[in-house]
Amino acid sequence: ENVVQVRGVSHRYRGAIALHEVDVDLRPGVTAVLGPNGAGKSTFLGVLSTALRIQRGSVDLGGIDSVRDRRRYRAGLGFLPQSFTLPTNLTVREFLGLTAWQRLVPRAGRAAAVEAALDAVDLAGRRDERISALSGGMHRRVGIAQAVVNHPRLLLLDEPTVGLDPRQRRGLRELVPTLGADRAVVISTHLTEDVAAMADRVLVLAEGAVRFDGTVHEFTAGR
Ligand code: ADP
Ligand code: ADP
Repeated sequence: ENVVQVRGVSHRYRGAIALHEVDVDLRPGVTAVLGPNGAGKSTFLGVLSTALRIQRGSVDLGGIDSVRDRRRYRAGLGFLPQSFTLPTNLTVREFLGLTAWQRLVPRAGRAAAVEAALDAVDLAGRRDERISALSGGMHRRVGIAQAVVNHPRLLLLDEPTVGLDPRQRRGLRELVPTLGADRAVVISTHLTEDVAAMADRVLVLAEGAVRFDGTVHEFTAGR
């Protein structure tokens, strides 16, 4: 079943075309958006996350339009931007509780939502530590936990493995597929190894257009 429908989305920055007429359906599982620098990956995630205002076309999440019903759309969305700052003074649990509140998770379900998010990223044992005490790889997991705390149907991870050491990267490559069991996960990456390790499906962007859309198997067979 379809989670997201992207129709005719184009985006330009002061004349420079970053996305051109993109049509994509997103289903549960992990979709990797691959492409060289400047291909439009960040712009695509920016439009899906509503961080960028849509200029042309539409994005629909289970019947909810990203522009007409932005608030409900965002309540169904989780987003890990490429660079993000965490409130280092808070404990992991305090931060996730605050995030759940900001994302409109009802009060009665908030503690359970925080525990589910901690479990999802395998951080339950660190819940009462201050964020400042955690490693870079753990920070990335906290970033993913904040993105899933509202049980989103659509989860966007912009370059989730960048800047991690090989061991942390392996951990994340194991984690991400588990997040796609019951939702559409979109990761952007320029690493083909990420694609093979994490994704079911590959979208290759080049100069703002979809150049390839298929399974990881088809992608690797065609290379
Ligand atoms: P990617 O994430 O694949 O590297 P981007 O979506 O960041 O690609 O960029 C797509 C195109 O849009 C590139 O040509 C880039 O130079 C341009 N671009 C991106 N952000 C801006 C901006 N803020 N202002 C002007 N041009 C931009
Ligand atoms: P704005 O409308 O000015 O973008 P908001 O208060 O709506 O500000 O959002 C504050 C921050 O929270 C932004 O940086 C936004 O990217 C982030 N955000 C909002 N909704 C979500 C979400 N569902 N998942 C992840 N980040 C989100």
